[in-house]
Amino acid sequence: MTIQEIEEKYRITADYHTHSVYSRVGPYIHGKGTILENVKAAHEKGLSELAITDHGPADFYGLDPKLIPQMRADIEKAMKAYPDVKVYLGVEADIVDSENALDIVSSDFELFDFVNAGYHYVPSAHMMENFRSFHLPVSAKEKERLRKQNTLRILKALKNNKIKILTHPGDKAYIDEKLVAMACAETGTLVEINARHKHPNAEDLKIYAAQDVKFVISSDAHKPENVGRYARSLALAFKAGIDADRIVNIEER
Ligand SMILES: [Zn+2]
Ligand SMILES: [Zn+2]
Repeated sequence: MTIQEIEEKYRITADYHTHSVYSRVGPYIHGKGTILENVKAAHEKGLSELAITDHGPADFYGLDPKLIPQMRADIEKAMKAYPDVKVYLGVEADIVDSENALDIVSSDFELFDFVNAGYHYVPSAHMMENFRSFHLPVSAKEKERLRKQNTLRILKALKNNKIKILTHPGDKAYIDEKLVAMACAETGTLVEINARHKHPNAEDLKIYAAQDVKFVISSDAHKPENVGRYARSLALAFKAGIDADRIVNIEER
């Protein structure tokens, strides 16, 4: 199917992974759209649900938990302006070396409607190693050591927390896709097909598809015009042999 045929036949109903200006550090604004601008974009694209999921606090431009009441107020205002869009406040937590393998503790979960999680280059020795292994030549042995460590950490995060979506698995950190897929199946965590990242690619997705998991397509938009992007990700899913009915936020027009 061409991208155009996909767009004609299928639509995306919800986007559970977008960033806003609350992903920032000092004057550097990582997410370009305000919450209102992201919601407006969702409304214009006919989405019925949207989540604002800024980066976890360990990230360089992670959200400041003190601003959560302001984010809630922005969401209330945006839903008044666009009542056809149900807006959630989530977070894209970082998978890190901590007691629950996330950069937020379990009592933080009540601040959000749900929690997504994934690997990012947060300032830590472990992620520096991952950065090197992704961008510089490393030995097969070192790659294997990191793959094991990264996989164990994801399994720990999935089993110790209620995570809605595992974001872009396999990007920024090598993992054992089969073990991660089995853990997603066991915990009911959605596997993300991400419009912005190289992983999961079609080969990775085939490994996830062999387990009893559900998928979600996310734009991971960092600017409003990208909210609700789905067609290329859906094409990738089809290439991996995944049917549209296994993707929770896709329906036929
Ligand atoms: Zn991410
Ligand atoms: Zn993201």
